[in-house]
Parts: sequence; structure tokens; C-alpha cells
Amino acid sequence: MKSTGMVRKTDKLGRIVIPIEIRKKLKIKPYDELELFSEGENIILKKFEESCTFCGSTTNLIRQKDKLICEKCIKESYKKIQK
Ligand SMILES: [Zn+2]
Repeated sequence: MKSTGMVRKTDKLGRIVIPIEIRKKLKIKPYDELELFSEGENIILKKFEESCTFCGSTTNLIRQKDKLICEKCIKESYKKIQK
């Protein structure tokens, strides 16, 4: 993990502003969704990308009720039903 050298204070609700330089570099636009991860003492922010419930793939997604499933997982599931 590379330090940006930037330090920001949280406000009383725990919010921080992501510096414009970082938002521009990562093409983060207003209202984009960010996913938060924690790793030991660290918090990692990542641009949120919808992905397959089963394998995490982000391509060829089909929405089934409130879940996303990729075409490959659907085909694999279908093969199991056929047996
Ligand atoms: Zn999948």
C-alpha cells in the first residue's frame, strides 16, 4: 500500500472528504458507490462494482430476484440440475 502523504480529519459524524486529486485519478464521480474493506488497522476504499453472487465475476451478469449471477455460474448450475 502506497502512502499519498495526505491526511484528513473526520467530522463529528465520521465523514471524510476524499481529496480531489485521488477522485480524479480513480475517476470517482459524485454519487458513485464505494465499497469499504478492513484489513487489520487499515480501511480500504474501492469503487463498487456489481458482481456475481457465486464467483465474483463482473461480466455477463443477469439479475435474478435481488441477486446477480453470471452466465457461467448459471450454466454450471443448469448442468448440475440436468444430472
Ligand atoms: Zn459467477
